[in-house]
Amino acid sequence: MKTNTAILVIYTGGTIGMIMDKETGVLIPFNFDNLYHQIPALELFNFVIDHYCFDPVIDSSNMDPVFWAKLAGVIEEHYERYDGFVVLHGSDTMAFTASALSFMLQNLNKPVILTGSQLPLGTIRSDGRENFITAVEIAAAKTDDTPVVPEVCIYFENRLLRGNRTRKVNAEHFGAFKSVNYPALAEVGVHIRYNHNAIRKPNFRKLKVYSSLNTEIAIVKLFPGINAKILDAILSAEGLRAIILETFGAGNAPDAGWFIDLLHGAITKGIIVLNITQCQGGAVEMGKYATSARLREIGVISGGDMTPEAAVAKLMYLLGNFTDMEEIKRLLTKPLAGEISEQHTN
Ligand code: ASP
Repeated sequence: MKTNTAILVIYTGGTIGMIMDKETGVLIPFNFDNLYHQIPALELFNFVIDHYCFDPVIDSSNMDPVFWAKLAGVIEEHYERYDGFVVLHGSDTMAFTASALSFMLQNLNKPVILTGSQLPLGTIRSDGRENFITAVEIAAAKTDDTPVVPEVCIYFENRLLRGNRTRKVNAEHFGAFKSVNYPALAEVGVHIRYNHNAIRKPNFRKLKVYSSLNTEIAIVKLFPGINAKILDAILSAEGLRAIILETFGAGNAPDAGWFIDLLHGAITKGIIVLNITQCQGGAVEMGKYATSARLREIGVISGGDMTPEAAVAKLMYLLGNFTDMEEIKRLLTKPLAGEISEQHTN
């Protein structure tokens, strides 16, 4: 006997949904009608699991804001009918999609759990089976009729992580994702142990979807030897609205005159320069070292402990939905979806 709980599984593509074609030996997308055939354990859940399949399904390297808008639209369209959503997605850009959805789905009060796998579901040792089953269980989890995890998350290899805090860190290990600056929302072993203090509280307001995203941004990753002419060409690109400057350590950059002048010139023209560290963990602290103090003086904005993935999504969302530049700059330094820690806000 099934309960009233219903979960929608949304299949976008990626390794998890592939099976080996017995005749040709190549990986082909998996027919969703065979879902229960591939994972009979799903039948044991006492709730309804429906699915929505994108056509065509994509390798997540082809993910883009147009697809994100469609994905957010599917969630919006089915929001009232379902208690939670599981998004099957390639692992390569999963952290970007999770970050984007966290800004696009405002007032989200239901779980949206992204998962995937390193080995296709149809292979014997696939990590996809456990990832998929546990993601469904987490999406359906409730306490007193309220979802336990009303936010956008990534579930992978025994850990539930806040989506906009997560990075793909390994192309081979089953534990492909890490959230260094924010604790896991749940650890999964014999029991699913939720870290309730780290999970966002629902606000019970109506879901509002923001699908307009502006892509006129760039990431500039610093390295010793960065070239003035090339940096100038990037900063002079027509239409450029913002760059993410991936800096060294706690937000440091060369203090050579030409470098500061180029950034200052861009900022004066109205281009946002957002400082994000290239380190996996820790935060930008402009002013700690002389090599970052100049950045602050010329108007570079601190991204605190945000991941580059969250920074990309946040800039696209803010530039796509706000016109007042001062407001955009202010919001960049504030947590909008738990993507930046309070102690690193301005
Ligand atoms: N290239 C695949 C993708 O991101 C890899 C994966 O699914 O893990 O779609």
